Amino acid sequence: MSISDRIEQLRNQIQAYDYQYYVLDDPSVPDAEYDRLMRELLALETQHPQLLTAQSPTQRVSGTPLESFKQVQHDLPMLSLSNVFSQEELQAFDKRLKDRLHDATPIVYSAEPKLDGLAVSLLYVDGRLQRAATRGDGTTGEDITTNVRTIRSVPLKLLGSDWPTRLEVRAEVFMSRSGFAQLNRQARSKQQKEFVNPRNAAAGSLRQLDAQLTAQRPLELFCYGIGVHTGAELATSHYAILQQFKQWGLRVCPLVKRVTGVDECWRYYQQLQDARATLDYEIDGVVYKADMLSMQQKLGFVARAPRWATAHKFPAQEELTIVEKIEFQVGRTGALTPVAKLQPVFVGGVTVSNATLHNMDEVERKDVRIGDTVIVRRAGDVIPEVLRVVMERRVQGSERVVLPTQCPECGADVIRSQTEAVARCVAGLACPAQLKAGLKHYVSRSAMDIDGLGDKLIEQFVAKGLVYQLDQLYDFDQQTLAALDRMGAKSAVKLLHAIEASKATTLARFIYALGIREVGEATAQALAETFTLEELMTVDQARLECVQDVGPVVAQNVRAYFSQAENRAMIQRLREDKGLHWPELSRAVQSEGRLQGQSYVLTGSLTSMTRDEAKRKLQALGAQVSSSISKNTSALIAGDKAGSKLHKATKLGVEVMTEEMFLALLDD
Ligand code: NAD
Repeated sequence: MSISDRIEQLRNQIQAYDYQYYVLDDPSVPDAEYDRLMRELLALETQHPQLLTAQSPTQRVSGTPLESFKQVQHDLPMLSLSNVFSQEELQAFDKRLKDRLHDATPIVYSAEPKLDGLAVSLLYVDGRLQRAATRGDGTTGEDITTNVRTIRSVPLKLLGSDWPTRLEVRAEVFMSRSGFAQLNRQARSKQQKEFVNPRNAAAGSLRQLDAQLTAQRPLELFCYGIGVHTGAELATSHYAILQQFKQWGLRVCPLVKRVTGVDECWRYYQQLQDARATLDYEIDGVVYKADMLSMQQKLGFVARAPRWATAHKFPAQEELTIVEKIEFQVGRTGALTPVAKLQPVFVGGVTVSNATLHNMDEVERKDVRIGDTVIVRRAGDVIPEVLRVVMERRVQGSERVVLPTQCPECGADVIRSQTEAVARCVAGLACPAQLKAGLKHYVSRSAMDIDGLGDKLIEQFVAKGLVYQLDQLYDFDQQTLAALDRMGAKSAVKLLHAIEASKATTLARFIYALGIREVGEATAQALAETFTLEELMTVDQARLECVQDVGPVVAQNVRAYFSQAENRAMIQRLREDKGLHWPELSRAVQSEGRLQGQSYVLTGSLTSMTRDEAKRKLQALGAQVSSSISKNTSALIAGDKAGSKLHKATKLGVEVMTEEMFLALLDD
């Protein structure tokens, strides 16, 4: 392909991506891909200046105002920013400024988070918000005044009186991550299309023709710059103007900082990068702005961006790669987790070659297929995930992924229940994958805490058929252990000691170690504080539900576990033959009490206490509190907005108590 053809191709591709991003608020590729194309184009145009045209996307601010909105001509163009992607490029930027200024003195910059939202212009006349507009193509934007008025952090009237009578504020409107997650949850539950990311959700929300809809969206804003201003003296530095903004009631990002010289810029960048994952809003880099307005004036502008500022982008958290395979991993509870095996890709600071797809519902919803080009996201320490498929790059003839009917580890049947998204191998500990995971859990620090019994050893135990039940961990002798890979006589003795020492444990650890589905450390602790092991093995579901944080599902799992004869037999062997023991605790639940033998259900909201408090008060009096109503329920305590439970109680003829009656019962 000739250079001019490639340039043409890049321009067309960028234009198509611009349309998806700016007009439809629905990009199909991650920013990293877009930025790569843009940089390639910029490099080609620099090498071949004769091919440069004014229409090239490198020369214009991207974006088009929608026709459905009234258009606004910006008095001062709203520009984009140049980019740097490395420390070297940052140094080159700083040097360019100094060269231009003919002054080697370290430059003072305002260093700011680059907020990932969309730019708006707010025009205040005589201190009142008169007009709000989008950036559009930089010259012409959209009039979104009615929509912006619904954003709570936008003052309709400025505080104080020392503001310019005509003041244009430049700001970024964005959506918090938590607001975005909630919005998408709602969309999912209504089977509506979800937004791709918070930026596009913010843009889509702000450009609603119906301001009522905008008002329902969790939009926020930070002010970061100034446009036209007449009628008052302003401070002489950008940073000082931001301080004035705050006094006028305009919200400014609290992370903005004045720094001097490139080294401090670089330090700020690193600090912000570390803080990135902890912020509830997305930032995609840092913006450095020469702080003195006089300096900004001297430096001026190039085609689409000021010379006195640049954006230092963070490494991408979203990247493109290809799904080579989809495998199913079998976990401790038999759950089959689909995992995408990816062409290795550098994203979020590491090379990623696996990404979880969570469960079959997710695979089906995202329709991920082998050979697909996908967007992978890795943010902070979060495990990498496949965000979505780039449909335009799907290869022909690809097929949907199907759930295997047989466990890939042991060949047993795989069952996907109607109620759960999870599919499971039915073999339990007979499945080597589940056995390995179960053993790893059993010996882990928070469980039986057997020091020196690592994953590699467990793999050998299972592979060699030495262990197929938890209690066989206690059957080893020194000789057998010493003969294993990476073991010697010394480490075998040490391990035997550790195994022996672990027998003195606590009931909570033991319950947790059993690996009952959804019984984590806290639940195990609560169960151990309430029951002895004998009680726990026989207690009914309703009493289980009286325990703090135990709902019907966990109660059911506990019941299901102990109702299996082989589990009970194994526990007996562990205690009687192997000698596991623990001190008996004094029980938290009173076995005596005024309401002993009574069972209550709580519904609706109470005004005098939370439902959890009410539950504890009842339990303290010896009552049981259950989450579902049956004929045996003594009474339903119905707070405000009681729904289906109230119906059911009436239907079953169960007594219904108001909050007042309930308080009287406690006081009795
Ligand atoms: P930009 O977003 O990189 O930089 C300019 C913008 O930064 C300003 O308009 C302003 O809105 C914003 N900004 C945030 N914090 C700021 C601060 N403290 N001070 C000043 N400005 C601040 O440039 P752009 O021209 O708006 O768009 C390019 C970006 O959009 C790139 O990141 C690109 O990857 C992305 N994009 C992606 C696609 C896609 O298909 N994925 C398509 C088009 C554009």
